[in-house]
Amino acid sequence: MASEKEAALVATPSDSTIFDKIINKEIPSTVVYEDDKVLAFKDIEPQAPVHILLIPKVKDGLSGLSKAEERHIDILGRLLYAANLVAKQEGLDDGFRIVINDGPNGCQSVYHIHVHVLGGRQMNWPPG
Ligand code: AMP
Repeated sequence: MASEKEAALVATPSDSTIFDKIINKEIPSTVVYEDDKVLAFKDIEPQAPVHILLIPKVKDGLSGLSKAEERHIDILGRLLYAANLVAKQEGLDDGFRIVINDGPNGCQSVYHIHVHVLGGRQMNWPPG
């Protein structure tokens, strides 16, 4: 938790992030799902047996959920729908957790909106 918090505190909303490099195949990732608008790949520091990130291929100003405008409704819906497809594909039939961290208090460390799908173990509540 400490390192996640530290990463979130030093993160700055910038035009380009490491996720652009993943989209452009400049750095490797393990892609588990892809369509024309959404890319899903394994988190490099998994917090559960299954930990997948879903991102829009075109950020369009959506550095985080708090930047959402009406024009983003389509991509926000696609991200959640694709998260459901990925959860099924990964066999998370007993349930899973969707997380969207936003801003420093939300422990966001990469400013390209992303949906976490976490599963394969019992999740705790409250999440902390
Ligand atoms: P957040 O803290 O919500 O902004 O989530 C960012 C996530 O991106 C973290 O869970 C990181 O482990 C993950 N991450 C950072 N760099 C990479 C990478 N190169 N490949 C896969 N996941 C990454």
